[in-house]
Amino acid sequence: MNIILFGPPGAGKGTQAKYIEKKINGFQISTGDMLRDEIKKDTDIGKKIINDMNHGKFVNDEIVNKLIKNIVSDPSKKNRLIFDGYPRSLSQAKNLDLLLKHSNQKVDFIFFLNVNKETIVKRIEKRKVEENRSDDELDTILKRYDTYMDTTKPVLDYYSKNPNFNEIDGTLKIDEITAKIDTFLKV
Ligand code: AMP
Repeated sequence: MNIILFGPPGAGKGTQAKYIEKKINGFQISTGDMLRDEIKKDTDIGKKIINDMNHGKFVNDEIVNKLIKNIVSDPSKKNRLIFDGYPRSLSQAKNLDLLLKHSNQKVDFIFFLNVNKETIVKRIEKRKVEENRSDDELDTILKRYDTYMDTTKPVLDYYSKNPNFNEIDGTLKIDEITAKIDTFLKV
């Protein structure tokens, strides 16, 4: 089964993705982690994206789409994909549909972790201390939330029509969210 975790930064997508990864023996695809890795390794992509990332802006679709292409079409990962932070734009969502279709796959579940701005600010400030991420400064957090709200609305509209779309209250405790996800996965 292929799963999309959708929601603003700090909604808990990464935490739940790691849980689902173990549960279904799947592969977490975090475009945020992949992009941070490019910066860490100082690759050509890393050099191109560092400015946007540090200012809480989205990286352009072409770069992100290219990053996930091989993973989605990798037969060893087929039907075990857990998307965390992708897609984030309508063009990415349509690109993913096409990639999945080409490899005879589909999206089985979309979990939208819905969280308000105050909760996110609190959570990300805590994460900043724990993980020391350069894009976790308060200004950047607020920018990332606004970018998310502006840019992802069309994605939300697109997926909310899908019968496999499920909204989950992302302000709940980690275990409570996991329990809700479990009721859908039934594995
Ligand atoms: P995340 O770790 O998912 O919160 O992502 C951190 C940052 O990486 C975002 O603020 C964006 O700058 C960039 N990023 C991650 N995923 C995407 C994506 N799917 N599209 C565009 N930018 C992304």
